[in-house]
Amino acid sequence: MSNPKLQKINGVRGMNDLLPADAQQWTHLENAVRDLTRAYGYELLKTPIVESTPVFQRGIGEVTDIVEKEMYSFEDRLNGEQLTLRPEGTAALVRAVIEHNLLYDGPKRLWYTGPMFRHERPQRGRYRQFHQFGIEALGFAGPDIDAEIILMGQRLWDELGLRGVRLEINSLGQADERAQHRTALIAYFEKNASALDADSQRRLKTNPLRILDSKNPEMQALIEGAPRLLDFLGPESLAHFEAVQDLLKANNVPCKINPRLVRGLDYYNLTVFEWVTDALGAQGTIAGGGRYDPLIERMGGKSAPACGWAMGMERVLELMKVSESLPEATNLCDVFVLHQGGETLRTALVAAEEMRSAGIDVVLFCAPDGQAASFKSQMKKADASGAAYAVIIGPDELARNEAQLKDLRGGEQQRAIPLDGLLGTVIDALVATSE
Ligand code: ATP
Ligand code: MG
Repeated sequence: MSNPKLQKINGVRGMNDLLPADAQQWTHLENAVRDLTRAYGYELLKTPIVESTPVFQRGIGEVTDIVEKEMYSFEDRLNGEQLTLRPEGTAALVRAVIEHNLLYDGPKRLWYTGPMFRHERPQRGRYRQFHQFGIEALGFAGPDIDAEIILMGQRLWDELGLRGVRLEINSLGQADERAQHRTALIAYFEKNASALDADSQRRLKTNPLRILDSKNPEMQALIEGAPRLLDFLGPESLAHFEAVQDLLKANNVPCKINPRLVRGLDYYNLTVFEWVTDALGAQGTIAGGGRYDPLIERMGGKSAPACGWAMGMERVLELMKVSESLPEATNLCDVFVLHQGGETLRTALVAAEEMRSAGIDVVLFCAPDGQAASFKSQMKKADASGAAYAVIIGPDELARNEAQLKDLRGGEQQRAIPLDGLLGTVIDALVATSE
């Protein structure tokens, strides 16, 4: 029997490692969202990964998939406080905005990114730890900001080269309009009570609108025939909805009205939307959001309108793969430095630092066993690094106060260069190859 203490320990199911081979793609996506937020004047707000559980119970709503069954909640062993790993970003961001009184001098445009946790059945595009990027515009009531945040999404998909992303949009109106619709909806579902699944029967009493959000295929025909919230909207809600659509049209952003789009949070009102694709199987929603004017007050802040959206980074990356729009792999470094230990290592290290100070990316050979390795095996590493040049400093070179400069990609002859002019020579060589 092997020692059980030495058995390997695996990661948690549904929580993925990001391996170096995929890191460049992530960085590419992160850079794209950072550029996007800069282009529209949105500021970063970071919240902790753990919040007290009521933040989400109140901020997402008790009768939602997330709060009912997806949260990782636990008790703080020291003080018994109920804590939860954040399942989404909006509730925590609003908590922070209220706590720090960020809206005291007017509206704010904010963004966040980071890991989220939901206890779901892991499958393609659905994980227990996943990452979101989200934007929230707080304190703006008009349809112009709804349009702005939707345009931001469109711009991001274009930047990333995503293909086949459709925008679906709906209006949830205001509370009184939803109340009238709710009455009609309950009457309709009660008439068809035998066709409701267990979840929906429960929701019929608590939050019948959420039945429209059901993913159960057997419920779809029934949902299709249900009364449409859009038919219950008054003139103000309709005007807001039309203004958003008009601004999108002015920017050539096509959208489809989906009267069954209700979204997972309880406190959405007016505009709601999702970006969907057929290219990712069942997990086809890459991002979604909408207006949530009642939330800030519900969370204990001074009433202020708000809207935003969040995207699933894993799903977007997967769609980039399918769209063949992933960035080309870049090289590990510009220059790889080889040496033979001892004095040659000292000189190589100093040269490498000098090059880095000048903005050159340098990998210095480092032997796994701490001993010097043959130049042949070092040269293999240099080739694999994708560097344009190798700088070789052996004892013979050092004795002559020289290094060898080897062109790893072009057809240039290997040549000896004086150590004291090494930086300038390397810069000239790199500039020449990049032209
Ligand atoms: P779904 O209907 O797929 O469960 P959702 O409505 O629960 O999504 P939101 O809460 O709106 O999702 O989260 C915004 C985005 O985050 C989603 O559109 C999706 O891209 C991504 N997302 C949500 N849950 C997961 C998950 N478990 N794994 C990976 N990405 C997810
Ligand atoms: Mg979900």
